[in-house]
Amino acid sequence: MRSLLVTGGSRGIGAATARRAAAAGWAVCLTYRSDQAAAAAVVAAIERDGGRAAAVRADVAVEADVVAAVEAAATLGPLGAVVANAGIVGEKTRVDELTVDRVQRMLTTNVTGTIVTCREAVRRLSTAHGGPGGAIVLISSAAARLGSPGEYVDYAASKAAVDTLGLGLAKEVAAEGVRVTVVRPGIIDTELHASGGQPDRVARLGPGLPTGRAGTADEVAAAVVWLVSDEASYVTGSVLDVAGAR
Ligand code: NAP
Repeated sequence: MRSLLVTGGSRGIGAATARRAAAAGWAVCLTYRSDQAAAAAVVAAIERDGGRAAAVRADVAVEADVVAAVEAAATLGPLGAVVANAGIVGEKTRVDELTVDRVQRMLTTNVTGTIVTCREAVRRLSTAHGGPGGAIVLISSAAARLGSPGEYVDYAASKAAVDTLGLGLAKEVAAEGVRVTVVRPGIIDTELHASGGQPDRVARLGPGLPTGRAGTADEVAAAVVWLVSDEASYVTGSVLDVAGAR
């Protein structure tokens, strides 16, 4: 059974991806930063459904944690896929009010964390490193093309960096058996919005979206699990919006 690592798999899109990936036959290693109970609940749900999973505490902003998480995933089975999902938003603010501390936290988690996750994934997966090949999915955001004015332009910019990382890395490793794709969710009903100080964001903005509602974590997970599957064998260097026409 091949293993799949999903960073930030204790809640939201990462947890839904972990559950769908396990149902699709992957041995799933999910990471969390602080919510050990939530991560354990995802593992228990997967095991109840007959799947295999393990949870590892790993802050993607800490290089050694990412290295250890990829190693842990490889002990569950030969590593076949990595979903770089962990990410944070900040409180609603304007650029002229941003602090360097906040910007650094945002970039270290969303950009450096994702780049280091990719580095470790390529070292394990690439045929140039003796690996079997595999798939990497980066979770970006529709914010990368919308810019998030008046909300969190720093977050949007960090996700634009993720888009470009995906495009460049896809070309770099295309001949080494590794596919790299980017998923850009729109407004998805998770706890992310509350963590950014806007617990009512989904209820407030959902009805005004083109679809009249926010998306669910499971709707994003379905796209991710297809992208890591062999069904998507010629899909690489692509950016897929799962954003309900937003
Ligand atoms: P969420 O519900 O807030 O869950 C975030 C997950 O990431 C949790 O498992 C959390 O772990 C983990 N995490 C946070 N910081 C971490 C760090 N430094 N190291 C390791 N793990 C960390 O968020 P979500 O909505 O599912 O978002 C997942 C991804 O989708 C993010 O990259 C986000 O930017 C992107 N996205 C979300 C939306 C949306 O509307 N929800 C839209 C576009 C893009 P703990 O449980 O331990 O805190």
